[in-house]
Amino acid sequence: MARLIDTVKESESIYMPLPARITAVSKLTELENLYTIKLPYGIRLRHEPGQFVQVSVFGVGEAPISITSSPSRSFDSFELCVRRVGDLTNVIHSLKPGDMLGIRGPFGRGFPVDRFRGKDILLCAGGLGMAPLRSLIDEILDERGNYGRVIILYGAHSPAEMLFRDELHEWDKRGDVELHLTVDVPTRGWERTVGVITTLFSDIVVLPRNTVSVVVGPPVMYPFVIKDLLQIGIPKGNIWMSFERRMKCGVGKCGHCQLNHLYTCQAGPAFSFAEIEWVEEALK
Ligand SMILES: Cc1cc2nc3c(=O)[nH]c(=O)nc-3n(C[C@H](O)[C@H](O)[C@H](O)COP(=O)(O)OP(=O)(O)OC[C@H]3O[C@@H](n4cnc5c(N)ncnc54)[C@H](O)[C@@H]3O)c2cc1C
Repeated sequence: MARLIDTVKESESIYMPLPARITAVSKLTELENLYTIKLPYGIRLRHEPGQFVQVSVFGVGEAPISITSSPSRSFDSFELCVRRVGDLTNVIHSLKPGDMLGIRGPFGRGFPVDRFRGKDILLCAGGLGMAPLRSLIDEILDERGNYGRVIILYGAHSPAEMLFRDELHEWDKRGDVELHLTVDVPTRGWERTVGVITTLFSDIVVLPRNTVSVVVGPPVMYPFVIKDLLQIGIPKGNIWMSFERRMKCGVGKCGHCQLNHLYTCQAGPAFSFAEIEWVEEALK
């Protein structure tokens, strides 16, 4: 059969979800599941690390979810990490392999990987922020020779709430990744740092002018992490963040995700600090 369309963007309407099949589900933590999703007709998502899709269940609703698999590993399918928080995400958690979801996107501006090549990369993830960062991390690791040091700082509430624990273990074993972990509430056997993510800055020394930092986590984390990164001397244009606002349409029309004049669904969710520092609401 002739292929009808090649990418989601070529679909008839930006508002029309494509029917996509869940091909695998795995439990990451008590609240988060990982979903492998396949689009119809062999259509490929063709995303950038940091972009998101709008995920829908007919009759329930639609929500923005970051693409957690890297473009370098998403050929005939892609992955989403979904935290169970409300109506839609609870229904998604009841779905099984073979069930269908609606997918629109990919939307937004991801991280400008081309500008990161040749630099040391300092990645700071808080909680669910590891979901979009994993896409970037795997992209970097799949062309590891193009980057300098790769330093990952990851903070979670407790060890059991850390996402992608098998992968953390793999990254930790690699000689070319520096992984630093912290939790707020340790449990028996935890031998790493205890404290908020900024506690980890005392463990690392970087060459600030040659370092790009990417920060993704809950809003409360940003002002503290940004302050420390600036103090270390990382240039404002080398500090990248992801701003999760209430994206609805995903295409800069409805205004739900507006920060001053910026539509975060289109101009972001990835922004450099240099681009966003003057936007009053951004870091609140
Ligand atoms: C760009 C972007 C990327 C995201 N990536 C992911 C991801 O990778 N994985 C994931 O699990 N979630 C992600 N989210 C958050 C996700 O969109 C919300 O958790 C989801 O919309 C909740 O839908 P619901 O119907 O289950 O909850 P609702 O019943 O609508 O709400 C339940 C609770 O979640 C809160 N909530 C609703 N919408 C949002 C939102 N947009 N951001 C934060 N809190 C919200 C509500 O205030 C309420 O407290 C992302 C959000 C954005 C904007």
